[in-house]
Amino acid sequence: MFAEVLVNLALRRVDKIFHYRVPAGLQGQVETGSRVLVPFGRRKLEGYVVGFGVPPQESGIKEVAALLDKGPLFTPGQLALARWVAAYYLCPLVSALQAMIWPLLQTAGPRRVRGLWPAAGVSGAPQTPKQNAVWQLAQNSPGLTRMELARRAGVSPGLVNSLVARGWLQVEEQMVRRDPVAGTPLRPSPPPVLNVPQAEAVREIAAALDREKEQVFLLHGITGSGKTEVYLRGIAAALERGRQAVALVPEIALTPQMVDVFRGRFGGRVAVLHSGLAAGERYDEYQRIQNGTAPVVLGARSAVFAPLDRPGLVIVDEEHESSYKQEETPRYHARAVALRLARQYGAVAVLGSATPALESYCRTLSGGPYRLLNLPYRIARRPLPPVRVVDLRREYRAGRRGIFSGALQEALAERLSRKEQAILFLNRRGYATFIVCRECGLVLKCPHCDISLTYHANGRLRCHYCNYSVLAPSRCPACTGRQMGFYGTGTQKVEQEVRRLFPAARVLRLDKDTTGRRGSHREILDAFGRGEADILIGTQMVAKGLDMPGVTLVGVVNADTTLHMPDFRASERTFQLLTQVAGRAGRGDRGGEVLVQTYSPAHYAVDAARRHDYGGFFSQEMSIRRALGYPPFSHLCRVLFTGASEEEVEKAAAALAGFAAGGAVQVMGPAPAPLVRVKDRFRWQLVLRADAPQKLREAVTAGLAGYERQLRTVAVAVDLDPQNM
Ligand code: ADP
Ligand code: ZN
Repeated sequence: MFAEVLVNLALRRVDKIFHYRVPAGLQGQVETGSRVLVPFGRRKLEGYVVGFGVPPQESGIKEVAALLDKGPLFTPGQLALARWVAAYYLCPLVSALQAMIWPLLQTAGPRRVRGLWPAAGVSGAPQTPKQNAVWQLAQNSPGLTRMELARRAGVSPGLVNSLVARGWLQVEEQMVRRDPVAGTPLRPSPPPVLNVPQAEAVREIAAALDREKEQVFLLHGITGSGKTEVYLRGIAAALERGRQAVALVPEIALTPQMVDVFRGRFGGRVAVLHSGLAAGERYDEYQRIQNGTAPVVLGARSAVFAPLDRPGLVIVDEEHESSYKQEETPRYHARAVALRLARQYGAVAVLGSATPALESYCRTLSGGPYRLLNLPYRIARRPLPPVRVVDLRREYRAGRRGIFSGALQEALAERLSRKEQAILFLNRRGYATFIVCRECGLVLKCPHCDISLTYHANGRLRCHYCNYSVLAPSRCPACTGRQMGFYGTGTQKVEQEVRRLFPAARVLRLDKDTTGRRGSHREILDAFGRGEADILIGTQMVAKGLDMPGVTLVGVVNADTTLHMPDFRASERTFQLLTQVAGRAGRGDRGGEVLVQTYSPAHYAVDAARRHDYGGFFSQEMSIRRALGYPPFSHLCRVLFTGASEEEVEKAAAALAGFAAGGAVQVMGPAPAPLVRVKDRFRWQLVLRADAPQKLREAVTAGLAGYERQLRTVAVAVDLDPQNM
């Protein structure tokens, strides 16, 4: 048998697997999952062993040159999952594998330290207080040098030496764990008594675990209904049955509270995996998962690839979040991979959200494959906060041109006088520019695609799905108003305005600028949680998962940025965001309220969020999606073309459109991408639509094969089931 080696040729879209002979010296050591060095032409390349087999012909077969690691880097189960990712998203298997094992590739390996360690099997404790101090310290911080230990214990090096001489301490080299949460105190979180819907949900999950068959649950729980507790009990049930669990959260660096709760319940059995970890920490956490020390994995998107051999439960919290989609190769959606994982291992998947994605919720309807678990009310029957919608058009007509409406200003003043806390939320600045009529709120949309038109520098408005364009009007076509303009504000401006209006208020800001340093995100939230500030101003980061009982007011500065994103999911995103943000208010005994400022107060997404009406939003949005043929009634594939010459980029896009059109696939575009020019490279896109992903893959593959040779100056990215578009 010969090793089948997947050679790491990053530039190839197509995987190349070659056979190599395993030399006698490496027999038995080279196995599936091994990383090896192999001769390739005149070079030596890195590759991964993906199996063993017989080549078509045995002459000229070369030998594996070297084995690069002690053990395999991935398991056969991980390989199977990577193969699925590569096949589904049309990406090279190498990039799927590397996305999986990247914690192992970035660092040299475990950290070993030579120093003093408490000797094993010593009975009793040293007698004198000084000896005892050294002994305690050596146990809490093993691996220190003699000098360091003496210095920290405040004793002479001679005293440390005497402990070594008596056999209490010994000098040796040992592995030290790089712990990402070292130093943060472990607060135990004892399990509360479940309420009825929680208990019912946990019972169903446990029963499904007993069946040991794939089962998907959609846990639809309003904000503050206690979804996390259901996850924790589900995980405990999986552990009791000898199985492992992985819980995904949108970006864990953003939710330190979640880490605390998990550690409080499962202690050292939790491994944490996310992009905010240092390379060494990530490596060590990965090892703890691999060797079984940590059967519970809590992490962001890529944690779905954790090396678990018996996963029984996979949880996707806030399953509607678009950040689960990776926006570079491999362009996978972690929720889709989680569902695949459940299938592969006969595991239970729990997708949780207060505002499930349409794609998920429609699968719970009669005849659908998912089971719906409902948490219809908040813990302790706390009411959802009332939401007041403030009409910015009216403010404008009344001559108020500031960031805050009269209502929001009053509400803030009231909170400050009552010594309560408030959160001011700002949507991400739109990546594309839309223009809105400040008198009637009109935003121009594409007559074919129903998405907002994007303003371009040449004074035209353009649809970046189908390339429809129209001259930007100077007067509003609906009300003839003359104030057609872009409206947008940054967090800094909001902070300035708050400080100007309320000089005595203590203000904290949570955004990209203030959270650059490691740990700063947590510090800001902790400080706010301790009541050290009155007002927290923030972007998306404050919308999710915060449980702050002191907050009685949430103000949404402008709901329109999300509402007018040029994306067919703009309404859905707005509804989700407003609901999430509103969920931060009124979690304590004093209740709370939400104020939403917008130029489109009557929009159904805003109105449904105001009424906390998921069902109403769902049915209205579904009927629009059905009429326009958008997901979940179809699958989309976005193909992005990038290059230095706009002409060639456009030509390549048109060529693929020609190849792909017809038959089962509908082609929209080519059109400029929402960001048409990034770092002096031009970007055009095609949007393909079909009723099944396989048809999209076939069309794209055939298209790319058809004119591959013309593609030398244009890069192509295939994005199946795109999220932000
Ligand atoms: P969600 O994720 O659904 O928004 P959380 O999981 O944040 O809600 O729960 C809200 C709060 O209620 C948390 O502080 C949590 O500890 C608490 N909680 C959850 N379940 C219970 C329960 N059964 N009894 C008392 N408190 C609970
Ligand atoms: Zn269009």
